[in-house]
Amino acid sequence: MEFHKEIRLLAYSLIFIFISSSANAQRCDTYEYFKKHPVTNSLSNSRVTEATKPTRDTISNEVITIPVVIHVLYNNAAQNISDAQILSQLQSLNNDYRKFNTDAANTPRAFAPLAADARIVFCLAKIDASGKATTGIIHKYTSEQSWTADDGMKFSAQDGDNAWDSKRYLNIWVCNLFGRSLGYSSLPGSQADKDGVVIQFDAFGTTGTVTYPFNKGRTATHEIGHWLGLKHLWGDANCGDDGIADTPPQQNFNNGCPSFPHTTSCSINGNGDMFMNFMDFTDDACMNMFSKGQAMKMRSIFATGGARNTFLNSAVCDSNSVQHSAMPVEPAVTKMMISLFPNPAIKFINLESKNSSDLIGKTVKVCNIYGGVVISQLLLTQKTTITIQHLPVGVYFIKIGEGKENKTIRFVKE
Ligand SMILES: [Zn+2]
Repeated sequence: MEFHKEIRLLAYSLIFIFISSSANAQRCDTYEYFKKHPVTNSLSNSRVTEATKPTRDTISNEVITIPVVIHVLYNNAAQNISDAQILSQLQSLNNDYRKFNTDAANTPRAFAPLAADARIVFCLAKIDASGKATTGIIHKYTSEQSWTADDGMKFSAQDGDNAWDSKRYLNIWVCNLFGRSLGYSSLPGSQADKDGVVIQFDAFGTTGTVTYPFNKGRTATHEIGHWLGLKHLWGDANCGDDGIADTPPQQNFNNGCPSFPHTTSCSINGNGDMFMNFMDFTDDACMNMFSKGQAMKMRSIFATGGARNTFLNSAVCDSNSVQHSAMPVEPAVTKMMISLFPNPAIKFINLESKNSSDLIGKTVKVCNIYGGVVISQLLLTQKTTITIQHLPVGVYFIKIGEGKENKTIRFVKE
């Protein structure tokens, strides 16, 4: 009897150790990654093309859309997560970054006035890097059984999958991380081909393979917070700070789910740690807010000169752009008789029509293969010259007019 009890006790303590160690899975390796891969200047180490050239500043209150490409790398069936699981992650990201998360109601009253709608949303890319239609999801078999936080998954040559242009896409690699580490992110300004976030396959989304207590999509919310320039609340130092005014200094990270208030010798007042913030290490069900200061910080990197400014130009979630930008042939039905010459062209192109109503009063748009509008001009004469000298070499599409009355012409800039 006594013996059985001991066995049972032993079994319980083993289960307890197992549960604690799984609950204490390394929440985030971003700081360790950052120490090994310090950030260089974001704009100097990547080629600035016309499509990625900053053209405008953020507009106050605009909802910023971030196109996402998901690279699912699997070595067995469980790791090959379903598209439904991926969509559940997109949904929870869009809830968390718009403060549409239902558990926002759980933010303690003391911190509730600081909780922010960051006005950032995420969409699956609809146009791939070559201008073709895509689902924004890649499922790829790999011979690697697990990966360390050392970027192998970001390179096809290492049996991972290459990043898509990180000036236009947020790359998310979903794979099996060694030791069930949950994820890590590059910081703004990182090397372009390593830029993005990596998430453990069973901590991604809210359905399918996700495992309690990391089953509400908050690993991605947290890692993308880093990708948008946020630090951990405790600044990765004892009683450190994250540089954000409205998040209190914190002694260290919090695990599990403390009860409010959780104060330490570093607390500046009785409210203690903001452990329900997405940038702590608490369980998914315990997190429910970004602060207003964090939202401002994240939005600031989209402003002119910011590391993610080019995303304001990214039209790769717009399927209409697939049709008008990537269509290799001119529309078959058109009554408009417009000629474009020379083609290929170096410095300028001419548009001319025998019928004045074809051009005059219409807007002409020059689009790159990603659907981004690089020139927009109102036509006032029957023959118009458009300067293209400043455009990078490549294929472009000229679109004249709107609705049924439009014509698309492809031309090559040399
Ligand atoms: Zn982190």
